[in-house]
Amino acid sequence: MPHAAKDPAAFIAADRAHVWHQLSQHQPFADKPPMIVAEGKGLRIKDIHGNEYLDATSGGVWCVNVGYGRDRIADAVCAQLKKMPYYAASVGNLPFIELAEMLAPHMPGLTRTYLSNSGSEANEKAYKMVRAMAHLTGNTSKKKILYRNRDYHGTTITALSSGGQYERRDWFGPFTPGFVEFPHACCYRCAFNKTYPGCDLDCARSVERIILAEGPETVGGLIVEPITAGGGIIPPVAEYYDVLAAICAKYGVLLILDEVVCGMGRTGTMFGYQHYGVAPDIVTMAKGVASAYMPIAITATTEAVFQAFVNDPSDKLAYFRDISTFGGCAACCTAAVENLKIIEEENLLQRVTEKGRSLKAALEELLSLPGVGDVRGKGLLCGVEFVEDKATKKPLAEAKVARIAAEAAGHGVLVGRANRSLPGMNNFITLAPAYVITQDDIERIVNTLRDTILKVLV
Ligand code: PLP
Repeated sequence: MPHAAKDPAAFIAADRAHVWHQLSQHQPFADKPPMIVAEGKGLRIKDIHGNEYLDATSGGVWCVNVGYGRDRIADAVCAQLKKMPYYAASVGNLPFIELAEMLAPHMPGLTRTYLSNSGSEANEKAYKMVRAMAHLTGNTSKKKILYRNRDYHGTTITALSSGGQYERRDWFGPFTPGFVEFPHACCYRCAFNKTYPGCDLDCARSVERIILAEGPETVGGLIVEPITAGGGIIPPVAEYYDVLAAICAKYGVLLILDEVVCGMGRTGTMFGYQHYGVAPDIVTMAKGVASAYMPIAITATTEAVFQAFVNDPSDKLAYFRDISTFGGCAACCTAAVENLKIIEEENLLQRVTEKGRSLKAALEELLSLPGVGDVRGKGLLCGVEFVEDKATKKPLAEAKVARIAAEAAGHGVLVGRANRSLPGMNNFITLAPAYVITQDDIERIVNTLRDTILKVLV
């Protein structure tokens, strides 16, 4: 039977019979039907029953940044698919060139755009660049890559090997060698039990001690999320990246900024690192590149990184021997070009800054409620951390946080939450609404949260 003729019950039956949902335990679907989305406009989506939700997550995982229902992107993609859908990215294509050219002025210092299809892949490209550079620069042992506790860089085995969210790694080892952890930068739970600014940024300075312990000649790269997203919405303090970048420069370590969540305006600047004035060597991005209208990811580099692969006089085959088949999707680039034009033409960075300020201020009013331990965020990337006890900061149990999110969904507001990510600390909800959010939407989200927190925690 064609799908259009199926009623919701038939869709649900087919979903139960054949679909394997990601990051989901299927057991509860037996008594509670799975959510099946059908359409969206702006921040609102409808399920197959016609129930409407205010989506404060931009598609569950901070993706649909310019909002649902952008005909302009769909139309441009359709036209490109008809004209020239694909050729491997070993050659150029017109939307790819347009995208790379448009992006360059938004990321001063970074000149090169390399394509793939997911955040994990974009990060793996960065790791491969670091490790290949060790050969090109004559120090073949300089291959270790440092990563930060609580950061996430993707789902493939090597991306997981560089992930500081250990519950996500359970069962999937053995992991790729050569990745070394350093402490997170969350002041609310300082890894050194210190208080800013008296701490002298021990969290950042500890990286130097780790590099020295590992041997600087063995460390080639360091990856961080500019603002940790799924690990708890953690914007480091203002001077953090100055310290980190200086350490990287001192030991010849390439600084990789994973902008998969923060990139393309989520925090009010085009890239999250731009709040901090650092100059990364490599930047990765994915989710917001085309607001998930099409799958596209980018590993952007400085000219120096690129030239290392060009200027080897001894070996003309010493280019970056890497390819992702779907990196050549011209229509994905078209979607990204339209997405970027929307951000520019609608002045969405300013909107993110203004609405983000207002969202954070409204969330901070929840701090007086029982169980609300901390509110953090930048732009339209915000989080609320829950505790059993404000004095001890004992994390609230994940099941209770899941109930808060479920209650909010029951009232038509979708919020994100930590999902078996950090052992014993899946105690926060996350908000990442589309950039077109209004003041009314903000009030609805925060009022719904207040009601659900009072219901679940009091
Ligand atoms: N990096 C960050 C910061 C992420 O949040 C994610 C996904 O959530 C990834 C990388 C991996 O992206 P993908 O799921 O597209 O592979």
